[in-house]
Amino acid sequence: MLDLKRQYEPLHQELLAAIEQVLKTQQFTLGPAVAAFERSGAAQLGVAHGVGCSSGTDALWLALAAAEIGPGKAVVTTPFSFFASVSAILRVGARAILADIDPVTFNLDAGAVERVLDSAAGAQVKAVLPVHLFGQCCFLPFGRARGLTLIEDAAQAWGAEWKGVKAGALGDIAAFSFYATKNLSAAGEAGLVTTNSDALAERVRMLRSHGMRRRYYHDELGWNARMDGFQGAVLSVKLKYIDGWNQARRAAAARYHELFVNAGLAESGPYPLHGVVLPLEIEGAHHIWHQFVIRTSKRDALREFLADRKIGSEVYYPVPLHLQGALKQLGYNEGDFPEAERAAREVLALPMFAELRADEQETVVTAIAEFLS
Ligand SMILES: *Cc1c(COP(=O)(O)O)cnc(C)c1O
Repeated sequence: MLDLKRQYEPLHQELLAAIEQVLKTQQFTLGPAVAAFERSGAAQLGVAHGVGCSSGTDALWLALAAAEIGPGKAVVTTPFSFFASVSAILRVGARAILADIDPVTFNLDAGAVERVLDSAAGAQVKAVLPVHLFGQCCFLPFGRARGLTLIEDAAQAWGAEWKGVKAGALGDIAAFSFYATKNLSAAGEAGLVTTNSDALAERVRMLRSHGMRRRYYHDELGWNARMDGFQGAVLSVKLKYIDGWNQARRAAAARYHELFVNAGLAESGPYPLHGVVLPLEIEGAHHIWHQFVIRTSKRDALREFLADRKIGSEVYYPVPLHLQGALKQLGYNEGDFPEAERAAREVLALPMFAELRADEQETVVTAIAEFLS
């Protein structure tokens, strides 16, 4: 599914030297290595500020808290994402309102969001939190016209673009994760908040360090959500290669498409019949293929068949967020978001990483062809 050792081996010497530099300075929390990554990361995304933090989950929490989202306010987001997209909203004390997804992109459906905004609950909504799921930007055409704060969950989308603008620079503020499975990964837990606003960046810096602007003078209830020096050093090295890795993912996605089409397995969708529905790059998007997610009506049996042949696959995500035990408080029921529920039953992510080889992809598609016949 993902072989991180193939990325590590050629970078071995460079990473050791970067880590040794942190050891020499003995600056383990923030420090020059983190500051350097914040600058070069923000520059690569074309955004004014990057603020390093301890995880993608904390990046979401910091972005929401900096934007003063809290009790009495509501945020609209998707039921088809990783848990943190919703839990971060609840952590700041705000209400999370969900809207269904588009079955082609798996991202928030703009029409469904507008229906929430026009409903009775709409008046309470102060922010929208789109998730750029699987590496394709979620663009909401009404944007800021409705006076809402746009908070991007860009955890899966380093390098993705919408009409030439990079994820992380599309909204008011954005959150990235560098967890091991992400397309840009640290050597442990790390995240980044990006924004073009000087005021928001200043608030994120204050909040990630216990609400301190001056040492031991606490202006607000912040938290310890700082980035490690080691993580900054590792990320600065990998930042030089990420464009190439994303290009390699795009080539691998194109190869999967060709293999499935040539095998006669590709269906036009959005829902699968007897074959597989392939993921698409929509007009305006520059997809970085964080995941390559197919749809099939026999998902669980296919996953077992592949596992028997030692072929990795993964289900992102088997349970939509409104049906999670921990989120019963949202007050939703089965049937409330039929697209998200159907996607949760049909999606299967296939092996996808920059170093994935063509022969391995052929093995995957051949096995799927065998299963379907
Ligand atoms: C990974 C992920 C997060 C959380 O990031 P962590 O670094 O694991 O805390 C949030 N949202 C999405 C969409 C993610 O994929």
